[in-house]
Amino acid sequence: MKSFEDAVKFHGHSCGGLAMGYKLAEYVTKLLDVTFSEDEELVCIAETDSCTVDAIQVFLGCTAGKGNLFVNKWGKTAFSFYNRKTGKSVRLVAIPDAVPKPEEMNELRPIVFSGKATDEQHARYDELSDIHVANILAADAEKLFEVKETVELLPMKARMYGNVICSVCGEQTADGLCAEIDGKLVCIPCMRRL
Ligand SMILES: [Zn+2]
Ligand SMILES: [Zn+2]
Repeated sequence: MKSFEDAVKFHGHSCGGLAMGYKLAEYVTKLLDVTFSEDEELVCIAETDSCTVDAIQVFLGCTAGKGNLFVNKWGKTAFSFYNRKTGKSVRLVAIPDAVPKPEEMNELRPIVFSGKATDEQHARYDELSDIHVANILAADAEKLFEVKETVELLPMKARMYGNVICSVCGEQTADGLCAEIDGKLVCIPCMRRL
């Protein structure tokens, strides 16, 4: 598996959500007997669009462009994984405050995010955040996530479409995603404006 630093480079910063993603990925490779997904053999349905999703892309190869990552803005730190080869699946749900943030971090957070923090407060917040990240990385995955059965159906494999020209905007678009209106193909954005 790639290192936590690899994920930091991709994501842009180090944070608790990313650290949770690292532990999640480690856990999934063990539970579902998978490694980095070169193709679509491992599928992830995320119930949040938080930082953790970026870790899943880096460590497990479930990515937005490959058709094996589905990101839902449901605000739940829960992720379902499906191994297409074995048919095994698992849903991991983060246990709230399994690794509590340092109290001082909670106090500084609103100040830092209001944009009114001093340089010292910023530095202290980053320091505390690094401690929080280290605490998560050192924790047992079993203590961070509850293992449940999946409830969502396994999505279909990504489909390959041909290209056509939309009759309204004249731009190239995937044929399987166009609507046919009065015998003419119309792309989704144009359809929404009709
Ligand atoms: Zn983040
Ligand atoms: Zn169009």
